Amino acid sequence: MSDVFLQEVTKIVGPENVLLQKEEMAPLLKERRGLYVGSCLAVVLPGSTEEVAALVKLCNQHRVSYTPQSGNTGLCGGAVPAGGILVNLGRMDNIRNIDPLNATLTAESGCILASLQEAAQEEGLLFSLSSPSEKECRIGGNISTNLGGINVLRYGNTRDLVLGLEVVLPSGEIWYGLRGLRKDNAGYDLKHLFIGAEGTLGIVTAATLKLYPYPRVQQTAMVATASLAELMEAFASVRNHFAENLCGFEIISRVAMVVVCECGINTREPFEQPYGWYGLIELNSTDPQLDLLGPLEKLLEGSSYAYRIAITEEEADELWSLREQISDAQKKKGASIKHDVSLPLSRLVDFIGEATELVQQRIPGVLACCFGHAGDGNVHFNLTQPADMDGALFLEMWGEVNKIVHDVVHRMDGSIAAEHGVGQLKREELLRYKDPVEIEMMRIIKRAFDPLNLCNPGKVIDI
Ligand SMILES: Cc1cc2nc3c(=O)[nH]c(=O)nc-3n(C[C@H](O)[C@H](O)[C@H](O)COP(=O)(O)OP(=O)(O)OC[C@H]3O[C@@H](n4cnc5c(N)ncnc54)[C@H](O)[C@@H]3O)c2cc1C
Repeated sequence: MSDVFLQEVTKIVGPENVLLQKEEMAPLLKERRGLYVGSCLAVVLPGSTEEVAALVKLCNQHRVSYTPQSGNTGLCGGAVPAGGILVNLGRMDNIRNIDPLNATLTAESGCILASLQEAAQEEGLLFSLSSPSEKECRIGGNISTNLGGINVLRYGNTRDLVLGLEVVLPSGEIWYGLRGLRKDNAGYDLKHLFIGAEGTLGIVTAATLKLYPYPRVQQTAMVATASLAELMEAFASVRNHFAENLCGFEIISRVAMVVVCECGINTREPFEQPYGWYGLIELNSTDPQLDLLGPLEKLLEGSSYAYRIAITEEEADELWSLREQISDAQKKKGASIKHDVSLPLSRLVDFIGEATELVQQRIPGVLACCFGHAGDGNVHFNLTQPADMDGALFLEMWGEVNKIVHDVVHRMDGSIAAEHGVGQLKREELLRYKDPVEIEMMRIIKRAFDPLNLCNPGKVIDI
């Protein structure tokens, strides 16, 4: 069967766009952290929506599963196949249209995120989605994971930036839904089913995205406090003062700061003395006359927090670099068990206090390296192995530690999958923590769209 099937695949996309050799497929079959390594019959690189539709129809005919993949930067194993074919959208990277008056951009799903930011900027507009992975991840993957990132406070998640979608459904039909409308109440808003679906309900082939006026002034600063409670007070006062001019507020714990200063590249302590917590503030405005610096200085001068305001671009980069390098720096400290969770802001302090205490009771000496986009309640609660513990032994405790942390998240009305999604990594845990009614609704939707269960099976939810 597979020979006939692969011959048909080759007819659809051309032989140069079918990878069959182990060595050429290998990098695309591996999740970045090495947590998952998949296998498949072939990696297929379609060049158009019609080719994607033809592939899906062929898969249905032969009962072969397919896994959509964009930049393969996802952190939950969602784009790692277990058999079938891997449909990599990387070749579909055309920007179809930019409409400056409507402030929209229509792009194919294989466009690299950073290239969309650049294209919008050339028109004096901003595509606000931004993430440390932006030079590798692609918009189809961003949509399918509902990427969050560093500008969520001001502009929202990917979901808030998508106005229309073009999708190849598991039936092989193409849904042409590329509307650039900001008001459209003509029936169910179906695009939201595909945003964050991690490729389980169809293959996104293009999207119409919302743009904003490009900010003309920016201001970066860092505050430092003894406790997280004080840092959250600082956040509230900056948010209440600057409202929509506040586009990011990232938190860094002392442990994370030590890690990034010791193991980062060209990093150093931002203050002369150590503090318990640090908050990175990013303000912007489209009004070139607006003074952000003066009011920020005044606000911070009148507070009890230590602070540093970036005067030059280099200083701003230096402060941001501390935040951006934490994940890589943490790798140099040994094995880590990660949690990407979100909490109501009012529970964040209790969550970090309680979760840290519980994991330290279970594994004395474990380091809670916390950081994240805390302005929107999202924390990466990442645990670094104790220095004297074997890394492999520590990693064997991944499931047990996840349960300790996620139980606290659940009790405090948070989410165990804030922005990276579910994929394979959190599939079982989803069943533990989600309301059974919600799980059943998800199954009904999955069955309705993909009755043969060929569209990225084994991810998010089983039918
Ligand atoms: C250094 C680093 C930093 C990161 N920072 C952030 C961050 O700040 N915020 C955040 O939210 N995430 C972050 N991530 C995670 C990751 O970058 C995002 O999830 C990103 O949106 C994935 O895009 P991708 O193109 O790599 O998708 P992939 O990894 O290729 O796919 C992700 C999922 O989407 C599905 N999919 C891909 N393309 C399509 C398509 N066209 N149609 C249907 N389904 C599809 C896949 O099957 C898979 O389930 C980070 C990752 C790294 C490595």
